[in-house]
Amino acid sequence: MYKILFTNNKTGREKPSRIFQFTSPYPMPFSLFNLPQMKKIVIKHLVLSVIILSSEITLSQNPIDPGDPPNNKDIPGFYKSRLSDIKAEIKGLKTGKAEVIASTPGGLPVYAVYYGQKDDFQSQANYNSAVGAGNAAYYAKKDSCTKPVVYFVGPVHGSEGEGIAGLVNLIHISETGKDYRGRAWPELKKYVDQCRVIIIPSGNPDGRKRCPYDSFVNLPCEMMTKYAQGTRKDGTWWKHPQCKGLHPMKGDVGMLGAYFNDNGINIMHDEFFSPMAEETKAILKIARDEAPDITVSLHSCCCLVPSMLQNYHTPLFMKKRVAELASQLNQRYRSLNMPHSKEGWTLSIEDDDPAFPPKRSFNLVSALHHLSGTMSFTFECSHGSLIEGNDESMVKYNRILDIQLILYQEMFNYIVNNRLYWN
Ligand SMILES: [Zn+2]
Repeated sequence: MYKILFTNNKTGREKPSRIFQFTSPYPMPFSLFNLPQMKKIVIKHLVLSVIILSSEITLSQNPIDPGDPPNNKDIPGFYKSRLSDIKAEIKGLKTGKAEVIASTPGGLPVYAVYYGQKDDFQSQANYNSAVGAGNAAYYAKKDSCTKPVVYFVGPVHGSEGEGIAGLVNLIHISETGKDYRGRAWPELKKYVDQCRVIIIPSGNPDGRKRCPYDSFVNLPCEMMTKYAQGTRKDGTWWKHPQCKGLHPMKGDVGMLGAYFNDNGINIMHDEFFSPMAEETKAILKIARDEAPDITVSLHSCCCLVPSMLQNYHTPLFMKKRVAELASQLNQRYRSLNMPHSKEGWTLSIEDDDPAFPPKRSFNLVSALHHLSGTMSFTFECSHGSLIEGNDESMVKYNRILDIQLILYQEMFNYIVNNRLYWN
């Protein structure tokens, strides 16, 4: 068995490395003086090297097609949406503890950062069995003596780097009390100090690495569509939601979109009873082990107003809680003069799919709830991309970071004041 360490420095952005393993086809040791055999071996090694190199090339970041706008050059230093930003932040941890929870098909690490000591929930059953027994406490005993557990699942769609920028700043606040603009967040820091917090800065490093744009601020929304969902072999775009009609995204693929990991898996719609992606398995395992009180899956869209989405296929009491937090968050955005929905807006708590055909899927956030009882939901942030007819976006870097940090603060605020005890 040989191991070859291959480092790609081409992008200048990430310095990923991969370990390739293969079994030697040659008798060892071989005679150095057996020239015909040596020639054969050299040729075979060259062939193997070409295979290894080409597989590495397929992992490199997608170039921006000629004619498409270049990456933004005015991205401020505090807007840390790259994988290298995550790596640097983790390197500087003093309070938080980082773990590699999975390795992607592209050979990249998926990190989780932990704050606060984990409480012993005296678990003796999995969540659904405990509910079957009539008391979720068999899965996790939670009362005022245990800390609230807050779980942040960073973007599982690689083109949605806004959540990475937010979470790297949240880690920085947890460490120093300030975000990368130098702004203090004493309330947020206090919440982190009193809770158990788990942060996955990027749920899909493969996709993030393939996305050539570090932000979509002031770019046409179509660029996000093209590079997120990818293209077919004939060059036409997959778009949303048609891109969910082929899963794994394999076969008719020109450019694999950043939505997917390198194996074509959209983690949001993995097969949750038998996950295809290691990233999904790791995200679910944390929920099962940590029994989070609240969990967010961070996403972004070509929208001006950020919003939470309802969690489908979950119990009515949980939908009501998600709607309650959504209203409070919207109210908070409104009071801060940030983009918001009109006063009185709230999420629907209606039945899922009362009539055929079904339209609401059981996705990652549904699975997270059913594994752990967590109050899980999807959050959609604005990309700051251009909405038709405008030549300047109303949402830029500062605002995107505020949208993220205010969401986190409201999540803590809600769960600290509205905990569900299982005992
Ligand atoms: Zn998304």
